[in-house]
Amino acid sequence: MRSIKKVKQVVFILIVSILTLSFYSCTYRDEKTSSIKRLIDETDDPSLNNEEQKNSEDTIISDSEVSYTTEKVYIDFSTPYATYSIINDGYATLYKVNRNVANFKNKTVAVNAGHGTKGGEKIKTFSHPDFSPKLTGGTNAEGSILSSAVSAGMTFENGMTEANANLVVAYALKDKLLDSGYSVLMIRENDDCRLDNIARTVIANANADAHIAIHFDSTDNDKGIFYIAPYNDERYLGMEPLKSNAQNIRKLGNSIIEAFREMGEKIWKDKGTLQGDLTQLSFSTNASVDIELGDKKTELTAEKAEIFAEGLKKGVDKFFE
Ligand SMILES: [Zn+2]
Repeated sequence: MRSIKKVKQVVFILIVSILTLSFYSCTYRDEKTSSIKRLIDETDDPSLNNEEQKNSEDTIISDSEVSYTTEKVYIDFSTPYATYSIINDGYATLYKVNRNVANFKNKTVAVNAGHGTKGGEKIKTFSHPDFSPKLTGGTNAEGSILSSAVSAGMTFENGMTEANANLVVAYALKDKLLDSGYSVLMIRENDDCRLDNIARTVIANANADAHIAIHFDSTDNDKGIFYIAPYNDERYLGMEPLKSNAQNIRKLGNSIIEAFREMGEKIWKDKGTLQGDLTQLSFSTNASVDIELGDKKTELTAEKAEIFAEGLKKGVDKFFE
């Protein structure tokens, strides 16, 4: 009897999940322009869960006709800080550009669409590798020894969720990077990534040369673009791995801001940086940036997503130059 009950429960959960997924894709089908629809539709692409892709080393031809292979990348618990993560049974997807591509670059960029882990805000992970409290406030208050494993993110004035907008820009950026010969580690590809911020960072540390987390801020004054630079305080800058990595973080952040500046995009307070203490920065060992592409006032159209992706790609070019 118990097993029948269990089967019924599983069937019920499956039906609810399917209904939720179809609602999720339908809500956007009506209102967004075709390109964004395509990008959002891709997030429901069943091929991402396809058995064949599990061991895939098959060559796939993308939209841009760049030839690449895909593989699933799980957390490696022998890498530094991996055991600090709690939500870590998901995987990232590595899109590996083939070496014979004309503009092949021997570099991998982790594209991390911020937020998008269901229930992630209720689970707590250490704010710092040395268990010290957070030094600045934000989603998690100053003084917190523990921070949300993944916070929920904001909702734009037009009703779109930040998590979804981040994913749209992430997909546009993936295509641009592949077109330019970079391999791409897509950390999140749907609305429920089973990797918390530490797991995402640890996987990016081990498998990518640079890590770009895409966000929009929760203010509503159309502030423009900025990145979160490591909080300028000896307690933070003296803590490993940040101590050895802060310079790298600033270099990538400044390269991205310069690229957007050259494109004539609005940069927040001209400098385009805000100091902060973030889980991503605290656990990164590679060039790692939290970029805020705007705020609640931003209207993310397909064209705008392309512009954001272009600026980020150019920033990556500048960083590796
Ligand atoms: Zn965010």
